[in-house]
Amino acid sequence: MYLKNFDRFFSPLQWQIILTTAQIAHDLNLRAFAVGGIVRDAIVRENHPSPPLHKDLDLVFDGGEQAGMKVAIALHQLFPASKLQLHEKFQTAALSWQDADQDFEMDMATARREIYAYAGANPQVIATTLEDDLWRRDFTINALAIELDPQLGIKGEVIDRFQGLVDLANKQVRAIREGSFEEDPRRLFRAVRFAMRLDLEIATETYTEIIATTSSGIHDAIGGARLRSELLYTLAEPRAGAMFELLQKLGALRCIHPDLKLPKNLTNSFKHQWRRSQYWLHLLNQLENKTYAPLQLGLELLLSYLPHQIATQLDLGLAPEQKTRQIKLADLLINLPNLVSIGLKNSEITQNLQKFDTQTLILSGAKCEPAQRRILWRYLTQWQMVKSPLTGADLKQVGYATGKQMGEILQRLRFATIDREILTKEDAIVYLHTQE
Ligand code: ATP
Ligand code: MG
Repeated sequence: MYLKNFDRFFSPLQWQIILTTAQIAHDLNLRAFAVGGIVRDAIVRENHPSPPLHKDLDLVFDGGEQAGMKVAIALHQLFPASKLQLHEKFQTAALSWQDADQDFEMDMATARREIYAYAGANPQVIATTLEDDLWRRDFTINALAIELDPQLGIKGEVIDRFQGLVDLANKQVRAIREGSFEEDPRRLFRAVRFAMRLDLEIATETYTEIIATTSSGIHDAIGGARLRSELLYTLAEPRAGAMFELLQKLGALRCIHPDLKLPKNLTNSFKHQWRRSQYWLHLLNQLENKTYAPLQLGLELLLSYLPHQIATQLDLGLAPEQKTRQIKLADLLINLPNLVSIGLKNSEITQNLQKFDTQTLILSGAKCEPAQRRILWRYLTQWQMVKSPLTGADLKQVGYATGKQMGEILQRLRFATIDREILTKEDAIVYLHTQE
């Protein structure tokens, strides 16, 4: 297969960088390749009228130790606006462009072999050929490469060592070799991400191997920062809720904790809860002009299916505020029937709920019964925003002294407004007189 119009997947600056990279590699007597996601997605989106631009470009250089680093250093000199990072131990380098209209990263790796001392370990790296480099990759659809050319951009056929093109056409995610998940259990998450994102099936033998890996418990070795980043990558996907359901089916949630069980009910599955929480968050961000972080909220929703005593102890980099929220959320969910009971006035419900922050309320709204959810929504979008029709200055003008008592009066007026007992300033003055 020959990829046509490869340049349309890149911005003019990205394409200029790709051509320059190919020239630098040529001058250094190295071969340069685009590999992985950029090749796969160009094939998947071949007929897409306006494909999204890449934010993450993976290039590989074949020609000896530290080939990637050498090209990255030369390229950085020609594009000093980029930020250069070198990872000598892994024989890779990254250049990133981050400003208002350019936000992307180029990973420039030396074609390499990776040796894992134990499951989940960081690998030891040795430079090798592109063909060997493709062997260390995860799935056949991710082991596609295309050689770069200084004049044409790309040359020749797509390099397809493991029948990735056939798998892509047949909609299969297939591990390149046996033992892949044992070697790097992060691939469990990656398999699910590619399957759901690109609407592919996990190939039968790969599925069987995943189940064997998860039931052996070997994947428990993945933890800490690497597990956290897999979870956040997954949560960033439009179908994250469904992805976690599939991870559960595969037994892969054990990587987080053996007791983690997500709900599967038809109407209140994790997928629905995740969607609801993201939708509420999005609307409330607009309404309150805030920037509550969606991925963090997703992570908190996920962990809320563990007892908070366990969730708060996990090595997943939760901020102190997020740990406290796990405890508050558990408390809120237990007490919710009383706190939002039908017999209460709107102002009483407001008083009960105003002790909780917006994220805790969104999370409980995502998980609770529909009737309670409706009340939480009214509190978040209406009642919590209501102000007293009279301000402190208004009260001073009609003779009230400032201080604690005035605060209480303003609060009473706010609650009366929430209960629709008063609406206007005039109503408020009459209301105060009747109360005296
Ligand atoms: P995305 O669109 O999510 O960026 P991608 O395929 O580009 O998809 P990356 O995480 O950017 O994925 O990795 C680039 C390539 O590196 C992959 O296509 C794959 O070939 C290889 N790769 C990445 N992570 C692993 C891993 N854990 N094991 C084996 N190969 C990997
Ligand atoms: Mg990528």
